Amino acid sequence: MKTEAWTVRAHGQAVPERETVNLEEPGDNEALVRIVATGICGTDLHAMGGHFPTPAGVILGHEGGGVVEAVGKNGASLTLMLR
Ligand SMILES: [Zn+2]
Repeated sequence: MKTEAWTVRAHGQAVPERETVNLEEPGDNEALVRIVATGICGTDLHAMGGHFPTPAGVILGHEGGGVVEAVGKNGASLTLMLR
């Protein structure tokens, strides 16, 4: 499926780009969450700057809130952690 994301393709990129990305169906231990709100935090800014050993090509906004749309094969035992 296709979705919209704010991406950083190269470390040091000043502004993330909004683009359409491919999203796979959830794996056995994963859930598909329709994000309705998120933000860009300090961790995201460090990832953008290349201060962490993360590869370029990251999608920002890991602290989102949303609705679970689908779960993988082991979904019955899936535990979601909310922060
Ligand atoms: Zn964060």
